[in-house]
Amino acid sequence: MKDAGFNISPTFEKCQNISEVADYIKKWEQARHDLPLDTDGIVIKVNSYAQQEELGFTSKSPRWAIAYKYETESASTALKSITYQVGRTGAITPVAELEPVHLAGTVVKRASLHNANEIERLDLCENDFVFVEKGGEIIPKVTGVNTELRNQEAQKIQFIENCPECGTELVRQEGEAVHYCPNEMGCPPQIKGKIEHFIQRKAMNIDGLGPETIDQLFANDLIKDPSDLYTLTHDQLITLDRFGVRSVNKLLKGIDKSIEESNFPQLLFALGIRFVGSTVANKLAHHFKNIDGLMQASFEELVNIPEIGERIANSVRIYFKDEQNIAYIERLRSHKLPLELEVQEEPVSDSNLLEGKTFVVSGVFTTFSRDGLKASIQANGGKVVSSISKKLNYLVAGEKMGPSKLEKAEKLGTTIISEAEYIALIEQ
Ligand SMILES: [Zn+2]
Repeated sequence: MKDAGFNISPTFEKCQNISEVADYIKKWEQARHDLPLDTDGIVIKVNSYAQQEELGFTSKSPRWAIAYKYETESASTALKSITYQVGRTGAITPVAELEPVHLAGTVVKRASLHNANEIERLDLCENDFVFVEKGGEIIPKVTGVNTELRNQEAQKIQFIENCPECGTELVRQEGEAVHYCPNEMGCPPQIKGKIEHFIQRKAMNIDGLGPETIDQLFANDLIKDPSDLYTLTHDQLITLDRFGVRSVNKLLKGIDKSIEESNFPQLLFALGIRFVGSTVANKLAHHFKNIDGLMQASFEELVNIPEIGERIANSVRIYFKDEQNIAYIERLRSHKLPLELEVQEEPVSDSNLLEGKTFVVSGVFTTFSRDGLKASIQANGGKVVSSISKKLNYLVAGEKMGPSKLEKAEKLGTTIISEAEYIALIEQ
């Protein structure tokens, strides 16, 4: 890129081995502070395409690239109070409200405390002075307590017992670090979070519906769970604030489209079953083929599926034991949502005239489009391949075909036929 005249960063280096990478990391540990921009780490990549291909990807990221993060800066400040956030799944996240403090270029007022175990681990007391760090996440975290500044009479932080949003008593499953509000169908942030999860791109992919609109629909009693989206009417929506004919139409169109274009794995992910992300949903959908099979699956059957562990199996069993969830699925079914895998239809075959024969299609044609010609070959039992080899039976040559292909075919003695000759072949 440099040779081509692009403006590139002068800081990159090509390393021959891992000890050179370590040297590079060390070199920039201090030097990075002199750069005209803030950096928190470096990216290390394998630059050989062959090795990249061999390493491949996990479901989330390439195995040939990784970020190295330098130790983060920390600051000390006073803990004012603790608030509790209720997430989509009902998970409760404690958040430390802090005396504002400067940290790595920003002012920090809040920091995540993750869960009750973390509060326990920190041995956090009221009005403590805490250390905060900004790691890779957007939200800073509390990493420790300055016990020297602790008031000896300070009370230990007690985790709340009831949901701050709906008042329901919280539960904590054995072995789990996280407290949950179990009121899945009645706790407002859980309802709204479920709908937001349901409509996202990897799930039911509904256009024209953002968090504000969901708040509005919920506040107006128009939706209580995602299945209610499919009952919304033009008359209901047009009365809402900020809703014009165009936005109403866009939303209704987005909802219709989600029925037509989504599939069973997407819907299964959209249900928001705890621990069932899109990869797991895909696996379960292909194993069971439809929701009814999954609903009846035993714990043993679930854990016997590769990569499905006890935690997921348990969560799936708990989800389908709940009558409210069953009723919800029946409502989705009544709205014609995809609760089974689509059966892949076999292409209709016209004949087996071309069976065992291979074809390369090249150039522009008059009767067929190029894709149409390929489909016709397949429909008659032939196989379309991409490159010319000794074993190739036919090259179907159209107008404007590349001269090098023609030359190669002639050299290998491939039978070259025109579109008209192809048509004669299948009309035998
Ligand atoms: Zn709640």
